[in-house]
Amino acid sequence: MSQPYRHYEVVSQLVEKAAHAISLDPKVMELLKEPMRTLTVSIPVTMDDGSIRVFRGFRCQHNNVLGPFKGGIRFHPEADEDEVKTLAALMTYKCAVVGLPYGGAKGGVLCDPRELSEGELERLSRGFIRAIAPIIGPDQDIPAPDVNTNPKIMGWFVDEYAVLQGRYQRGVVTGKPIIIGGSQGRDGATGRGIMYVIREAAAAFGVNLKGATVAVQGFGNVGSYAAKFLYDLGCKIIAVADIFGGVYCRDGIDPYRLKEHEMGTGSVKDFPGTAPISNEELLTMECDILIPAALGNQLTRENADKVKAKWIVEGANGPTTPEADEILKEKGVLVIPDILANAGGVTVSYFEWVQNNYNYYWSAEEVDRRLERVMVEAFRAVKDAYTERDGVDLRVAAYIVALERLAAAMKARGWV
Ligand code: NAD
Repeated sequence: MSQPYRHYEVVSQLVEKAAHAISLDPKVMELLKEPMRTLTVSIPVTMDDGSIRVFRGFRCQHNNVLGPFKGGIRFHPEADEDEVKTLAALMTYKCAVVGLPYGGAKGGVLCDPRELSEGELERLSRGFIRAIAPIIGPDQDIPAPDVNTNPKIMGWFVDEYAVLQGRYQRGVVTGKPIIIGGSQGRDGATGRGIMYVIREAAAAFGVNLKGATVAVQGFGNVGSYAAKFLYDLGCKIIAVADIFGGVYCRDGIDPYRLKEHEMGTGSVKDFPGTAPISNEELLTMECDILIPAALGNQLTRENADKVKAKWIVEGANGPTTPEADEILKEKGVLVIPDILANAGGVTVSYFEWVQNNYNYYWSAEEVDRRLERVMVEAFRAVKDAYTERDGVDLRVAAYIVALERLAAAMKARGWV
């Protein structure tokens, strides 16, 4: 998870490709070119030994024509402005493609949370929220967890914001613990969304998923839930890898039992009844569906030609480089892009915010049912854009859907 996502220019090039395909009003492009605002902050933290350390942080707000800015906050030693800016732009397009009334944002704090004590981490988290408080709010910009941040940190965020405002506003942050307004179903949301998208794609392209072979890179939140939901659908999970190595079994792996093993040993490695496999072997193995759900830049010009999967479904953000994308397209591999495939997470974050605004909470079944509807509709919109235009792949089709919505909102608000 530590690698920066592809650079801002790459996303900009994709957007330009999609804009060209629909002869988008150049004024819309001009307004999307640069983020609306990036705030850089210094966060002084009193360390346990009494010294003071000043951390650097960012909040980038890319575009809010569709609604309040939305996006996670990562704590990472290599977080930088370009990465945060790129991820903020991706959020603008991801929210637009699934039809959420949100804009795109992202935040980052340069730190290594493993080097901080619990108290230092809490003071840093609260300090960051104080620093960005003037530009966030339930109707303005709503942060959420990302790399190395979690519900506990969201609890500190929402509490510090309440202290500053003098009133408790749950909807300022999503990804909170359920007891203070988090949503049911958030944990499995991204994996569940991936499953819905695959199910819809199979129906649209006439593919039978019963017994379809699946390889998953990354067995954390996204990869493990995606594997479980696809297994429940009748797919055969034949390979899984994490940072320590991978496992393979032609007859199929039970992802529920694999998760128990991983929780006990810290890795998927050495799961009984499987053979070891490297990450590189997993990416290029014979299978129907490959789900990169670990890091960015995994499928590159070096290995794309060796990929034997029929479909690639991007659980991670940016696992395929533009060069690899071209090679895979020539080989006839179908790539279901990140901004569509992994949008289940932000969708349930949106549901959390809606429930906070209503002060009325849904059951897990209700959340899943609503998530299914959003993902199915998003897939169909992208599929329509894909079939309507020659030479457009699903990635460009997803950007087309997003751009059409952003352009319509800009027009309706009189921006263009
Ligand atoms: P996570 O930390 O829960 O899990 C990451 C997994 O990837 C772990 O199994 C880890 O061992 C594995 N991994 C790390 N480095 C690896 C390497 N070099 N080779 C193979 N495996 C490696 O993270 P997550 O929440 O599952 O997120 C995974 C990806 O999905 C990230 O790119 C993230 O930005 C993206 N994403 C996550 C969500 C979400 O809701 N969690 C939503 C959208 C996108």
